[in-house]
Amino acid sequence: MKKLLPTSTAGSLPKPSWLAEPETLWSPWKLQDEALIEGQQDALRVSLQEQQLAGIDIVSDGEQSRQHFVTTFIEHLSGVDFEKRKTVKIRDRYDASVPTVVGAVSRQQPVFVEAARFLRQQTRQPIKWALPGPMTMVDTLYDGHYKSREKLAWEFATILNQEAKELEAAGVDIIQFDEPAFNVFFEEVNDWGIAALERAIEGLKCETAVHICYGYGIKANTDWKKTLGSEWRQYEEVFPRLQKSNIDLISLECQNSHVPMELLELIRGKKVMVGAIDVATNSIETPEEVANTLRQALKFVDADKLYPCTNCGMAPLSRGVARGKLTALSAGAEIIRRELSAEGLAY
Ligand SMILES: [Zn+2]
Repeated sequence: MKKLLPTSTAGSLPKPSWLAEPETLWSPWKLQDEALIEGQQDALRVSLQEQQLAGIDIVSDGEQSRQHFVTTFIEHLSGVDFEKRKTVKIRDRYDASVPTVVGAVSRQQPVFVEAARFLRQQTRQPIKWALPGPMTMVDTLYDGHYKSREKLAWEFATILNQEAKELEAAGVDIIQFDEPAFNVFFEEVNDWGIAALERAIEGLKCETAVHICYGYGIKANTDWKKTLGSEWRQYEEVFPRLQKSNIDLISLECQNSHVPMELLELIRGKKVMVGAIDVATNSIETPEEVANTLRQALKFVDADKLYPCTNCGMAPLSRGVARGKLTALSAGAEIIRRELSAEGLAY
């Protein structure tokens, strides 16, 4: 990207109330069959327009065709039985009833490729598409077949690679893998998690990103955050290995978080999507608050590698709040662009 500090969102945006129950995760669809596809496309248009009006540079579909960032992808795979449910602890944090892996997993047909093609037709701006990461997928299922998290992750990585290659061919500029599990299972991340992610991006020519956050602003996550103490050093465990990986961009939670900014030094050289918008609160950041977070990050991220972003997805927020936050993100980035340009650093 030529523009300095290109803005984007980490993931989901609110869904219109005619498509799904608003301000809810895992919200059921209000339409079916053909009407649902058409509704999702219309919602994508609305979501895209809101990003454009707010001045977001790298746009997405707002995840309008996803009920959930992991489950919707898995629903399209064979080898997973959604009727056979087990309760597991997701990310060592909260119990959830999840589907069971009952046989070899495979992708029978493209999952999001049509929707990505549709987004590509709507805009000339760079587009980013999110997929779940292999480790987070494994952590959102009960495995009754492989009996090995690593083995299953490797299978998912192969499937994700097939999907990613088709998304690239559909014109996606950045493919992002959501890996909140990277913030929890450090030993596994270093052991096989990052390797599985690199398998998922094998052979891609487009840019690739990994999003590692502290989760949506739901109670289980905010309660967990309260137990993490005054300094959140989770990123420290995985950054050294990530810095050496082939991933181009790393998307992080920095706004209102207790992550010490100096940890970003550990991934110097990577492009960093700095979360400058808190998705766990309805209060809208001022542009100056956004700018301040970016200013802190600039001490450890080179200006040409800093991508202002949101901490995580905004699906659980109201549309008004999400709109306000997007606008604040753009305005905050603009403050810093002007400062850099005054210092003679702009292109
Ligand atoms: Zn997130």
